[in-house]
Amino acid sequence: MDSKPPPKQIKIAPPVTTTGLTDVDVRSGMQVAALKQAVTDHLRYSIGHPPVATTLHDYYYALALAVRDRMQHRWLNTLQTNFDLKRKIVCYLSAEFLMGPHLGNNLLNLGIEQEARAALAELGQDLDIVLECEEEPGLGNGGLGRLAACYLDSLATLQRPAVGYGIRYEFGIFDQEIHDGWQAEITDKWLRYGNPWEIAKPEVAHYVNWGGHTEYYRDEAGNDRVRWMPYRVVKGTAYDTPTQGYGVNNCNTLRLWSAEAVESFDFQAFNTGDYYQAVEDKIISETVTKVLYPNDEPQIGKHLRLGQQYFFVSCSLQNMLHILSLSGVPVENFAERYAVQLNDTHPSIGVVELMRLLVDERRLDWDKAWAITVQTFGYTNHTLLPEALETWPLPMFQALLPRHLEIIYEINRRFLDEVRARFSGDEARVARMSLIGEEGEKCVRMAHLAAVGSHAINGVAALHSDLLKASVLKDFYEMWPERFSNKTNGVTPRRFLALANPGLRALLNEALGEQWPVNMEQLHQLEAKADDAAFRRKWRAIKEANKKRLADYILAHTDIELDPTWLFDIQVKRIHEYKRQHLNVLHIVTLYRRLKENPGLNISPRAFIFGGKAAPGYFMAKRIIKLINGVAETINADPDVNTRMKVAFVPNFNVQNAQLIYPAADLSEQISTAGKEASGTGNMKFMLNGALTIGTLDGANVEIREEVGAENFFLFGLTTEEVEHIKREGYHPTDCIASNSELRTVLELINSGYFSRGDAEVFRSVVNNLTYSDPFLVLADYAAYVACQERVSAAWQDKENWTRMSILNTARSGKFSSDRAIREYCDEIWNVQPATVKL
Ligand SMILES: *Cc1c(COP(=O)(O)O)cnc(C)c1O
Repeated sequence: MDSKPPPKQIKIAPPVTTTGLTDVDVRSGMQVAALKQAVTDHLRYSIGHPPVATTLHDYYYALALAVRDRMQHRWLNTLQTNFDLKRKIVCYLSAEFLMGPHLGNNLLNLGIEQEARAALAELGQDLDIVLECEEEPGLGNGGLGRLAACYLDSLATLQRPAVGYGIRYEFGIFDQEIHDGWQAEITDKWLRYGNPWEIAKPEVAHYVNWGGHTEYYRDEAGNDRVRWMPYRVVKGTAYDTPTQGYGVNNCNTLRLWSAEAVESFDFQAFNTGDYYQAVEDKIISETVTKVLYPNDEPQIGKHLRLGQQYFFVSCSLQNMLHILSLSGVPVENFAERYAVQLNDTHPSIGVVELMRLLVDERRLDWDKAWAITVQTFGYTNHTLLPEALETWPLPMFQALLPRHLEIIYEINRRFLDEVRARFSGDEARVARMSLIGEEGEKCVRMAHLAAVGSHAINGVAALHSDLLKASVLKDFYEMWPERFSNKTNGVTPRRFLALANPGLRALLNEALGEQWPVNMEQLHQLEAKADDAAFRRKWRAIKEANKKRLADYILAHTDIELDPTWLFDIQVKRIHEYKRQHLNVLHIVTLYRRLKENPGLNISPRAFIFGGKAAPGYFMAKRIIKLINGVAETINADPDVNTRMKVAFVPNFNVQNAQLIYPAADLSEQISTAGKEASGTGNMKFMLNGALTIGTLDGANVEIREEVGAENFFLFGLTTEEVEHIKREGYHPTDCIASNSELRTVLELINSGYFSRGDAEVFRSVVNNLTYSDPFLVLADYAAYVACQERVSAAWQDKENWTRMSILNTARSGKFSSDRAIREYCDEIWNVQPATVKL
């Protein structure tokens, strides 16, 4: 027993500053005076510009640091609590985290927006203007990265211990500019002015091997073992961003890895030749985390992309093992302490890496290591598009990860034995399920690897999970039906309702109290209000103010002036043929022609608003952007129609402007080819903010319609079965054209150069694609879409009923909170309990 007396607790009074505030207050006080002093101190001590040179950005940065200070002890207490309670931790592995601007969200989650606003006002600054200074970290392409960010928000808010592990790209998704209607890509230098939200942890570092070869040897105990002799070693260091929960003290960690060269080179030790070699090594090592790859591009030859995936996954798993041993927990208990989720197949090399770490480095026997691995991992599938399923050519894989390929062969050998045992004689099935694709160039199939190495496999909407079991993972479903489940996506109501739509937040607070952001089922109480005319008037006023706010933004960024009393019809998302922005354009041109032919036509005036980035190498998507802008230019300049319709393309769609866009929508365009959109989350953000949806039976649209009721949803188009049927029978778009003269005229008009200043070449490829080789069946859905839009126009005429439907959309959107999704993951896949953090 320890006989030493406990140390005397000596209370030292915190020093008092001249303002009467203690240092503790200045770092952690939540009142106006403390915040004001904190900003003043950071301006002086952290930024250090003389008052004459202090910029708006300095105020942003100083307030950000002051807010981060307030998160700091919550964050440390969370880490300490998790350590003390030895709770299981969720590790969310994702190649992308599209976090959006931090400042506004952290103020909201800490509950100090008003105080910060007042503190800045006393310093002569306007919080809203200061918020606009933040350059968002664009560390994701779109939906998948944003989902990871929403899930971190819910994990912290629901008090679940969690770490998001990813990559600190030096350059995130490119900034989009529109030049003469075309997309131009500008490098995203998001770190240019520093990043107040991250805390560098240079002492948290792991080493990652590349290339080389493997050697067999016999260890001291006489066991055969393998040693990996790499060609290069890269060092990964951690950068932590605290992620604050809403209304709780829990503050989790987003840990992003940055690559560095292993040695900082030593001038004495190298002769000239070696010196340049050392510099080159440094450059090569640091290239690993340079840039985020855009989606929707052929991945062939992207050796570096596999390198990125392996790099961040290896750092993350080594980090988990390291923390486990710090906690004194034996490695055999890994799966009791960590639930590791694979956000799509990008981190699925983790299955092999954990096996390598356990077998080669920790010397566990294979069976034990495999049991731990499968128990640890869960896999979320995000796509059924065959071109988006990741595979890596064998030679590339072998060159970069020689030891992993050996382990994959061994996993595969054992796995295929199991398949043969279950389905004897079915060699076709064995070939289909193998981790190695043998048709054409041999490759590693990452989705199969993820499925074999995970105890739980889920899709992201009910329809998608069903299709997954019936198509890409059918054989795996037949083998392990118990591994499969659905987890319909969700979005955080904090950022996408409370923060993005302050007008509606105030109304909801007044009507429902202040608990709805963490209990979205309470929104059902709004249903009764839908029949209250005074409430509907307030609702409309809020929507119109949001539309005015967006119109101002669009005017400032495009010179296009929109009337906030018009119907705002919005499609914002990545530009992709399966999402069918061009179907939207065909409707716009149809309406345009009708107005030209029949000037007296009574239509509901509409603003058609688009936004979204195209992958730089995606030819057709870039043409679609040009088409939208060409149509916009012609229509907006035509006095015959521009008092009733206009078209705008918002450049550089990102989380920051998304927060202006979703709340301003009357109509949400969710018009993908049925069976192609796994879930969608934009559809949910629109619904939350009271937009009505025009959509196909695809992804989560199906569940949105179920929740809101068929009478409050504009449904059109082919079903998944009908799409499949048409494809089997042979799709003939020329038949659609032959039987629809209006469609023919619309296509001819586009083809004539009418929307491209007489240049008939520009859109030929788009029209030809639709006419001869369109896998997304745009023309097959054209007539139904146009007819459905006529129903939209008619419904818009009845303002009161439209408002009723808008209120019901928000009232019935509770299911689409990411809190619901995260509870399901915690209860049904991760088995992770809440841990309350005290201050
Ligand atoms: C929600 C969101 C997406 C995903 O939109 P979908 O309509 O689901 O494709 C993409 N980008 C940003 C910036 C988002 O906020």
